[in-house]
Amino acid sequence: MKVKIKKGDTVEVISGRYEDKGRRGEVIKVMPKSGRVTVQSVNMRKKHQSQVQTQGRSFTPGIIEFEGPIDISYVMLVCPKCDETTRVGVQRSEDGTVQRVCKKCDALFD
Ligand SMILES: [Zn+2]
Repeated sequence: MKVKIKKGDTVEVISGRYEDKGRRGEVIKVMPKSGRVTVQSVNMRKKHQSQVQTQGRSFTPGIIEFEGPIDISYVMLVCPKCDETTRVGVQRSEDGTVQRVCKKCDALFD
C-alpha cells in the first residue's frame, strides 16, 4: 500500500464511523504497516492515570486524553492551497524526486 499521507499534513476525516467526521487536524503519526494514522484532536480517548512515583517526582493522577489511531482510508488530505480535500497525484520532477501534487489545483505538497 502506498501511503501518500505524511506526518504534518492536514487531513479531514471523511468516514462516518467516527464522530469526528468533517474534522480537520494535523497528522501526528503515520503507521504504514498497519495502515493507520493519528490525527490531532481526532478519535480522542481517555486513559486513567494513577499516581506514579519515579525518582522522587510524582505525577498527578487523573485522566489523560490522547488521540487514538484511525484507519488511513478514513482521512483525506487537505490541499494547503485550495483548502479542499483532494486526491493526490504523484509527479516526478526534473531531478528525479517524487512530489505529491493536488489533483484539483496542481499545487505541490511538501
Ligand atoms: Zn489544491
